[in-house]
Amino acid sequence: MATRPPTARDAGPLAPYACAPARSRGRRIPEPEAPTRTAFQRDRDRVIHSTAFRRLVYKTQVFLNHEGDLFRTRLTHSLEVAQLGRSIARSLRLNEDLVEAIALAHDLGHTPFGHAGQDALHACMRSVSPRDGRLEADSWGFEHNLQSLRVVDQLEERYPAFDGLNLCFETREGILKHCSRANAERLEAQEPGGVGARFLRGESPSLEAQLCNLADEIAYNAHDIDDGVRSGLLRLEQLDEVPLFAHYRRLALAAHPALAGRRLLFETIRLMLSDQVYDVIDTTRGRIADSGVASPDDVRCSPPLVCFSPSMRERSQTLKTFLLHNLYRHPQVVETTDRARQVVADLFQLYLTRPHELPDAHSRGGHPARSVADYIAGMTDRFAIREHQRLGGAPLFP
Ligand code: MG
Repeated sequence: MATRPPTARDAGPLAPYACAPARSRGRRIPEPEAPTRTAFQRDRDRVIHSTAFRRLVYKTQVFLNHEGDLFRTRLTHSLEVAQLGRSIARSLRLNEDLVEAIALAHDLGHTPFGHAGQDALHACMRSVSPRDGRLEADSWGFEHNLQSLRVVDQLEERYPAFDGLNLCFETREGILKHCSRANAERLEAQEPGGVGARFLRGESPSLEAQLCNLADEIAYNAHDIDDGVRSGLLRLEQLDEVPLFAHYRRLALAAHPALAGRRLLFETIRLMLSDQVYDVIDTTRGRIADSGVASPDDVRCSPPLVCFSPSMRERSQTLKTFLLHNLYRHPQVVETTDRARQVVADLFQLYLTRPHELPDAHSRGGHPARSVADYIAGMTDRFAIREHQRLGGAPLFP
């Protein structure tokens, strides 16, 4: 167990392998520098002011938004990812502003109802193309990472001179954390050498992007335990079969023998989070030193460097598997997500056959199915439920 907190709380200047705003690959549409903020600070600020960011507060993480006021939403999840990411970034002398911009934007493309919504929308998009002549040209399917990129590149309507937020390459690179090969090829055709290229060349993204990916995983593993117990679907005793959790529960009780209930849960999760952060810092620092990378371009040509130690990776994987079987596939969660999937599938068909129901902004030009997918993906949970009822769908969420 890595229990020794790494030093360098006041880490000093950016490391040579960090992304420096002055060396950014820039924006798709060139803009003058802001007088008081770096390019990555500005990206973060644009994300915070976006409409898609505000919608995250009403989008599901695991539990539907209306099931309880204290469960994580996509917004609070994104804030936790940013917090963890920034902590680690500072210790490693990576760019905190870039990490924050990526973390706050990483889930902007999520559909209502979490992964269930995404799966349903993907199935809808696949089913209409390519055989349906009307939709032949559009076979991208639906991927939430790609949709996040679409939000910041095209869908936000705020600025007079361009669609989207016109973010820097490095922020966009971090937002597109996964991408199928087929879609990377399509991206490459639109933007040669752009954010799709690394998936074709087998390259890594920046350390800041790698870090956000891992911070995402650390965040949801921890908060899903909390939300799982809060919902009553997971019991504390059940979690004792997860070595990672049981270890920190023992440590918490050794230090505070009278601790029980929610405080014991919180203290256990707090210890687990701290240790995972220290583990990532120690492991990554060692891998960076061993690799000899001296610039962000070196990083891109190197295998991924931000990671857990092998033992923490294994224990984290066990926790993920536990959450999959006991929480994400809990009959009560599955029952809700099945209904959510139906809402999305129904909405897709309803808008496709009744395009006049789409707001004007969503029905001008472009592919009909893509317009529908963009509109549905932007919905909050409750708006999707309301629209479903308004358009005559069966009442799935009375
Ligand atoms: Mg996430």
